[in-house]
Amino acid sequence: MNMEIKKIVVANRGEIALRIMRTAREMGIATVAVYSDADAHSPFVRFADEAVRLGPAPSSQSYLLMDSIIEVAKQTAAQAIHPGYGFLSENAHFAEKVEKEGLIFIGPTAAAIRIMGDKLSAKEAVSHFDVPLVPGSAGAIKNLAEAQEAIGRTGFPVLIKAAAGGGGKGMRIVERAEDFEEQMNLAVSEAQSAFGDGSVFVEKYVGSPRHIEIQILADSHGNVVHLFERECSVQRRHQKVIEEAPSAILSAELRAEMGAAAVNVARSCNYRGAGTVEFIFDENHNFFFLEMNTRLQVEHPVTECITGMDLVREMIYIAEGKPLSFSQEDLKIHGHSIELRVYAESPRNNFLPDIGTLREYRRPDGPGVRVDDGFEEGMEVPIYYDPMISKLVVHAQTRTAAIERMIRAIDEYKITGVETTLDFGRFVFQHPAFVSGDFDTHFVKNYFQPENLDSILTQEEEEVAALLAVSILESSKSSSRVSKGGQPQVKNATSEWKRNRGALS
Ligand code: ADP
Repeated sequence: MNMEIKKIVVANRGEIALRIMRTAREMGIATVAVYSDADAHSPFVRFADEAVRLGPAPSSQSYLLMDSIIEVAKQTAAQAIHPGYGFLSENAHFAEKVEKEGLIFIGPTAAAIRIMGDKLSAKEAVSHFDVPLVPGSAGAIKNLAEAQEAIGRTGFPVLIKAAAGGGGKGMRIVERAEDFEEQMNLAVSEAQSAFGDGSVFVEKYVGSPRHIEIQILADSHGNVVHLFERECSVQRRHQKVIEEAPSAILSAELRAEMGAAAVNVARSCNYRGAGTVEFIFDENHNFFFLEMNTRLQVEHPVTECITGMDLVREMIYIAEGKPLSFSQEDLKIHGHSIELRVYAESPRNNFLPDIGTLREYRRPDGPGVRVDDGFEEGMEVPIYYDPMISKLVVHAQTRTAAIERMIRAIDEYKITGVETTLDFGRFVFQHPAFVSGDFDTHFVKNYFQPENLDSILTQEEEEVAALLAVSILESSKSSSRVSKGGQPQVKNATSEWKRNRGALS
């Protein structure tokens, strides 16, 4: 099918709706926003060429209303629907409905979403291809004997996972054989009540895992490429908060191997569009397929920064039936990019959401800084949705320069009225484990305590502290050297302060 898209309904909200609309506008494509009452005054609603109200704030009465969204597309004579991430983006039934109505779903086929939406059918599909899987049971375990057979191959600890699980839910670590039966029964009933499907399976528990994922693009003519990796190991509550590309630890060989495996995963389900293949990476640099996300990923900007590609533009071309205009060999990594998800939540209080009004909101700017946000000063962060305020993304020539740029941008970012993950980000980017690249998904558990935030200073505060330190030192010596060589001494004291800072945090 080859069809030019002239108008798109963006079935999402906030930063991602705005981000998709910006690319559409660059391409000369008109946009239609759909919105709930909570978002009536949001920037994405104003940015769109047309906007249609869906209903009240709860997503079940607005952003999840499949028929209403399809109706909007028909009424506004749009040809296509972009689902963004979350909401209906991985809903096979919705993809099917959209296509049945003669509209284009900017994403994969319903069949591919179905296969990859279930962890067991995904494993089944990729097992016929050259893709390493975490050792474990081949399918759903139906009884204790089957579980024991699988554990014979993995040993303890094992992870019991729900086939239909997602968002870090439905997983149980079992350390000892004597606990297994009880934990399995609990996992089955939990999966049944949470997902309506009690199928569970067991996997070897990887002790010190890194989360590394590969971005892929596939057209409807059988061409599949990968756009390298994103490292997403800094997580809280099994959810990503900091991502970077490339990973600090991947060799060119491993990158090529993981890229090839990801392309195979895409082929295993006849994938079309932009997708992400997630791998778990162990201490010995073995990697195993975890799952595939069949949509645009929150952290896609870091890939855009290092490849120079616009993933939304590519998704639209693919949806129009165009073949990819480049091959794997054309893709190169340029520099280093890091993203911090700025959430309205309290790192001091177990990262619980802290919603309210953005009393002060000033974005950072300058070289190599990209802020994808959907808020303005004075707006409220609604309680109904994910409390992400923005994605702060930096791009620089090297990883070290990107980290320095990130700290500078965090210092420039002014948000008051709600607590955010900005100061947590500053803590991570100054931490020796992150700076050295030697960390895993347990970063927060291993290194972070709320008290850490109290001893972290902004650059400005550091200078003031250093000046104070110098004047105290000097007045105690009661000498006149301060006025003569003041500046260099302040600099020395500042770097001394910075060196010693580790001892404080
Ligand atoms: P979900 O679909 O709920 O996000 P995933 O399978 O993607 O579940 O796993 C979420 C996170 O749980 C991973 O990023 C990783 O940190 C951890 N995890 C998953 N499988 C394993 C495993 N076998 N061993 C250790 N940690 C794991």
